Amino acid sequence: MRLTVIGCAGSFPGPDSPASCYLVEAEGFRLLVDLGNGALGALQRHIGLFDVDAICLSHLHGDHCLDMAAYWVARTYAPDGPKPRIDVYGPAGTAGRLADAQGHGLARQMSPAFSFETLTPGTRRIGPFQVTADHMNHPVETFAFRLEHGGRALAYSADTGESAALVRLARGADLLLCEASFAEVPADAGAAPNPPDLHLTGRQAGQHAARAEVGELVLTHLVAWNDQAAVLAEAAGTFGGPLSLAASGAIFDLGRPGAASQPTR
Ligand SMILES: [Zn+2]
Repeated sequence: MRLTVIGCAGSFPGPDSPASCYLVEAEGFRLLVDLGNGALGALQRHIGLFDVDAICLSHLHGDHCLDMAAYWVARTYAPDGPKPRIDVYGPAGTAGRLADAQGHGLARQMSPAFSFETLTPGTRRIGPFQVTADHMNHPVETFAFRLEHGGRALAYSADTGESAALVRLARGADLLLCEASFAEVPADAGAAPNPPDLHLTGRQAGQHAARAEVGELVLTHLVAWNDQAAVLAEAAGTFGGPLSLAASGAIFDLGRPGAASQPTR
């Protein structure tokens, strides 16, 4: 199983990365997890524009799904004709939301390009992957995913505040891709505390990874206005295992004997 970080910028595209998008490959099958703003462009540095086999959308905040509208245009108006329909898994209401994003009246026309499947908590097969989804702690319906293949497991938090469900879903995973959108606010700073039930700090991401006893933690959904070194340091204070910041273009190979992951850029 190979993970390629396409976009890891939180909430909006940053100078060095599109918004959320991850490519997960096994046995030649290419699954996209989220397709946020700007990700469709960076994706083409790694695979062909039409080489996607299925897409999972964690939730319908724009920074996780808006390039689906652009991708509908590309698959529908390709010069050599429309591309085959692919499965798109998302929360209830995904088809209508994406049609609205592209322009009114396109709900029906989106279905030739995308076969929409409504996510519910539980486990399903997508290509060669066993995919388990569960609800996260975020203001809109949001799913985290655990993807398993060849005896390895990759967990992705999507967007979430503190969540026991995330710890359960990530239990023992080889790699947890966990959001760290917030920086801790020092008690004496006089600033407003981070709002609850929305996002995690680096410290909280590390706590979730430690409780789940994951093999490796990669922090993602990194917001451009944060000091990323400080967010990484927070996580290092609560998680003792291998730890890094996601970066657009980073590749992690899970499943090679003796190597949990091998980030390259
Ligand atoms: Zn969100």
